[in-house]
Amino acid sequence: MKNSLKCNLCGINKNDTTFFVSGINGHICNFCIEKTYSIIHKKILEKNTHKYNNNFKKVKKPKEIKSFLDQYVVGQNEAKKIISVAVYNHYKRIQQYNNKDLTNVEIDKSNVLLIGKTGTGKTLLAKSISKFLKIPFAIADATTLTEAGYVGEDVESILTKLLQSVNYDINSAEKGIIFLDEIDKISRKSNNPSITRDVSGEGVQQALLKILEGSVINVPPQGGRKHPDQKMIQINTENILFIAGGTFDGIEKIISDRIEKMPIGFITHITQNKRNRKKNYLKNILSEDLKKFGLIPEIIGRFPVVTYLKPLNKSMLKNILLEPKNALIKQYQKLFDMDHISLNITDEALNIIVDKTFQLGLGARGLRIFCEKIFLDYMFDIENTQSTLDINKDIVERKLSCS
Ligand code: ADP
Repeated sequence: MKNSLKCNLCGINKNDTTFFVSGINGHICNFCIEKTYSIIHKKILEKNTHKYNNNFKKVKKPKEIKSFLDQYVVGQNEAKKIISVAVYNHYKRIQQYNNKDLTNVEIDKSNVLLIGKTGTGKTLLAKSISKFLKIPFAIADATTLTEAGYVGEDVESILTKLLQSVNYDINSAEKGIIFLDEIDKISRKSNNPSITRDVSGEGVQQALLKILEGSVINVPPQGGRKHPDQKMIQINTENILFIAGGTFDGIEKIISDRIEKMPIGFITHITQNKRNRKKNYLKNILSEDLKKFGLIPEIIGRFPVVTYLKPLNKSMLKNILLEPKNALIKQYQKLFDMDHISLNITDEALNIIVDKTFQLGLGARGLRIFCEKIFLDYMFDIENTQSTLDINKDIVERKLSCS
């Protein structure tokens, strides 16, 4: 009796199948499952492609992009302006490509390099852009990459992240944005490349170059290391915009040496540090400084737009606590509000958090660290926290006394 079971969709006999799934009133064979899966997958892809294609058509003007960024990113006006224009031009370039515009003026890609201390908003800028434009976006970390054949991830895995973000819809991924964080960590380790093999430095830069230049790349679908029997997905990177970010620790010294042309040893370390602190050398950055830092000229050439983020001062830090759409204090107020607790924090208390964060030197990241310390006990003992939670200077000082 059991052997006469048939698939309710195609009618095949159970004996002729690899497996059979039985429901309340019927059965389905492995062939029909595979077929329906591929139909569903194709439909989802078509829907996604349509959605992204529409988003690509509705490109916002640079000023609109910038005013959206203003809601999330405090300060950094120069970087916001530059990035808004770069993204806008990127989409004009894609439109030209989609419309098969055969005029002989080809718009070049304008990959962006963001330089700035940790916690100044590099990732936030890139994330906010993708949120606004609703386009495929992925963040990849350059520190995990090594040259093929060594422990670490192949450079192509950064494209896997973009593919995964759009559920393997190649067409959409090919027009997305990749934020490549910590690009400074793959700088050449030594001026003399022959000393040892530089598997996480120059080798990676060379491998990255192929992706940045715009070519068809074989991408491992699951990321990590490529291996011979793996089925690869081919991606054309010609229209993928790369935004790279890095702290480039020490580059200010390279710039200041170039600008001031001070012979080494001519001024003391103390005066040198004072001068560096006073001036924002980053705004004078040139390709030659990046080269001296350890990026190969070909990589530098692939980032025609270079901009910097200013170190955050105390007033910017305070703004970050209070003003952006998802400012930290607003987030804590929301969290407490969900337990019917109203959170108030005095200006003096905020100033202490800001001072401590400034001293810590981790940019706005420090704000979160201190806020967690202040609010942790109240959140842990939420049942016994009073319906109005007033945080003043004394409480903050006590909670942060060991930091
Ligand atoms: P990084 O420059 O190291 O990439 P992030 O963008 O990841 O720094 O910022 C770290 C944290 O600090 C995030 O939570 C972000 O929201 C906040 N932050 C940093 N800079 C700003 C800024 N200019 N405006 C608003 N929030 C910021």
